[in-house]
Amino acid sequence: MTLVEMGIPAVRSKPPSLAGRPDTPYLVDRFGRTARDLRISITEKCSLRCTYCMPAEGLPAIPQDELLTVEEIVRLVALAVRELGVREVRFTGGEPLLRRELERIIAGCHERVPGVPLSMTTNGVGLAHRAHGLAAAGLSRLNISLDTVDRLGFARLTRRDRLDSVFAGIRAARDAGLAPIKINAVLMRDTLAGAPDLLRWCLDEGCELRFIEEMPLDADHEWARANMVTAAELLAVLGTRFALTEVGRSDPAAPAEKWLIDGGPPTVGIIATVTRKFCDACDRTRLTADGMLRSCLFSDQEFDVRQALRTGADDDEIATIWRGAMWNKWAGHGIDAEDFVPPERTMGAIGG
Ligand code: SAM
Ligand code: SF4
Repeated sequence: MTLVEMGIPAVRSKPPSLAGRPDTPYLVDRFGRTARDLRISITEKCSLRCTYCMPAEGLPAIPQDELLTVEEIVRLVALAVRELGVREVRFTGGEPLLRRELERIIAGCHERVPGVPLSMTTNGVGLAHRAHGLAAAGLSRLNISLDTVDRLGFARLTRRDRLDSVFAGIRAARDAGLAPIKINAVLMRDTLAGAPDLLRWCLDEGCELRFIEEMPLDADHEWARANMVTAAELLAVLGTRFALTEVGRSDPAAPAEKWLIDGGPPTVGIIATVTRKFCDACDRTRLTADGMLRSCLFSDQEFDVRQALRTGADDDEIATIWRGAMWNKWAGHGIDAEDFVPPERTMGAIGG
């Protein structure tokens, strides 16, 4: 199997150029943005197989010795916070709960950078028996992905019959004090009609729901602009059951635009990555499970910090690679361009 078939870019970028970069420790780019929000994927493995993300057989396994270790992750998080101005860290995957050392990773980061919010995006499967331990380790917040509350629809979409486990995970997380829980739902044609039921369920359970437009990051390469469900279509469907009043973004870097539901106070969010893109305000920097820095979901430019760590680079050298990676960040994702080509890594291999 080739690297490209594994969803891993074949060409690793050369050391990034710092030409023209101002003298600042922060992760600035050429378009006036500063990255403050670090997303770290900690595994490519997953307990589900969402059709918009993974192939039915799952992603090829990353060899154990290519995964960043707990110690390497903790060191990079501490460096990002102390040297580069990162203010929030989110663990993702694949499914982060499938990394046995998750609690150790969170506890290690919590100890090194106390006070920095540590959050996680999870599908919630198997969360029920780990929620208390994660909260005790120092996890601050949780986003749980749930696209439909219809059992058959869930099984079709995720290729697994695990809806009850997700429900149990959400309730356990709330009991463990990890509220308010945000629910992420990717918009798909098959599940669109169930969107009002999902919103009703979230309101009843005290969860904040945010819908996400499907992006061209699926392993099966079936995404098509003409087929994707847009934010506008979703609003029309939700509008048949709820009165929605637009309130905009809570802060300019927040990806979700919000609507009050039936006069509020509860809100529903929409992350319209494709039809109302917000690249101008993007504040993300990303690290893959195998230790590659990425400045954008959609750019295959990757910078190898695993190799740097393992060949003895000190914190200053790693900080320089990281600053260079972000200085060279693109202006935007380019999905609407005629010559748009999806990145070689798919969502599950980057970390959403
Ligand atoms: N397994 C965890 C989960 O599902 O929450 C974390 C990893 S998953 C890749 C992170 C987020 O990316 C999830 O909310 C998921 O719904 C979203 N996602 C996956 N593929 C996507 C796509 N093609 N377009 C938009 N969002 C996607
Ligand atoms: Fe797994 Fe999350 Fe991708 Fe679904 S979206 S297949 S749960 S990584």
